[in-house]
Parts: sequence; C-alpha cells; structure tokens
Amino acid sequence: MTTHNFRINSLRFLFSPFKGELVRVCLLFLLLLSCKEGEVNNKYCSLSARLVIENVTQAPVLFTACESMGEYCTVKSDGQRFLFANAQGKTDPINITSNQTGYYLGLNGFIVGRLTIPEIGEDDTRVVCFDLACSNCYQNYNITKPLVLQTAGYAKCNSCGRTYNLNDCGNISNGPAGRSLYRYRVYYYPQSLLLQIRNP
Ligand SMILES: [Zn+2]
Repeated sequence: MTTHNFRINSLRFLFSPFKGELVRVCLLFLLLLSCKEGEVNNKYCSLSARLVIENVTQAPVLFTACESMGEYCTVKSDGQRFLFANAQGKTDPINITSNQTGYYLGLNGFIVGRLTIPEIGEDDTRVVCFDLACSNCYQNYNITKPLVLQTAGYAKCNSCGRTYNLNDCGNISNGPAGRSLYRYRVYYYPQSLLLQIRNP
C-alpha cells in the first residue's frame, strides 16, 4: 500500500459507519467500567432480597441478633418455615404465613445482626444483613457456597478459606484479598418488633 492510498483509507475510516460503531463500543465499555466502580463504592449490592418478620420475638435468636450488639443469626427457609440459627447452633423456626409468600432470601439465605460500633456518620449501631453465600466464590466462580457463622461476629467460607468480619461490614479479616460480603438494606423497628429486608 502506498502512503497516498493509506491516507485515503484513513480518511475513509474516519468517515465510515464503522467508526461510529467503534465509538459506541468504546462508550459502552466505559459505561460498564463505571458501573463496576459504582458497585465497589456502594455498600449495598444490587441483588434482590425480600423478607418481612412481624414480632421477631417469635424466634429468640433473631430477637437477640436485632437487639444485642455483635450478635448474629443465619436465616434460611425449608419451604414451610423460616429457620433462624445462631453461631452456637441454636435454631428457632417460624412458620411461613400466607402474607409472607413473596419472600426472597437473596442467593443463599441471610446473616442478620447488630454491629458492635456505629458506622461512620451514625450515632447508633445498626442492624445489618448480608447474604449467607460467600461473595468471592459467587463472583469468581458463579457458585453459591454457604458461609459458616462463627462466634464473635465472624463468618467463614470453607471453600475458599476466607473469613469475613461481620462487625466490619463484611470485610475480609483472613484469607486471600477480594470483595466484602453482599450487603442488603434492612430496617428494624424496635417498638413494633418488625424486621424488613428490602433490596435493592
Ligand atoms: Zn468462598
């Protein structure tokens, strides 16, 4: 190809429809990058989660997790009942009623509990909710591996070996680097003893 031809081809490229396509692809790529960045900076994940528990005292381990700093319990379902279990293995069931049938327990159930220290900019410790699935196993291999709730506010994945600190908003406390746990929006109303998980 001569220099002259090359210049003509370059000019053709600049005004060709293909260039518009390339620009669109580049813009899409930048958009995807910014979305990923946005998710990293956002403390709540974009996965779906729905659960309403009226009168949390029905399940004493859930009531303790909602009221006591540094206490956590797991939340699962067997189809007929919600099962709440603490780190010591005590399990309290609640029968699922007809007005709870729209529930959705995220990827693999929840961990619910109250932080030991308030988050930045807040006065009181709040109730938090994480997915019971290891976030790194799900992100890296697309598999849901259940975490094991441990005492003192930790949860461990026996598949990848990471331990997460629930009181540190689900950040990794031991094991390979990675992301923090998937966190959901949760609302606890102590006067009415109502717990509501609603995400995103
Ligand atoms: Zn894992």
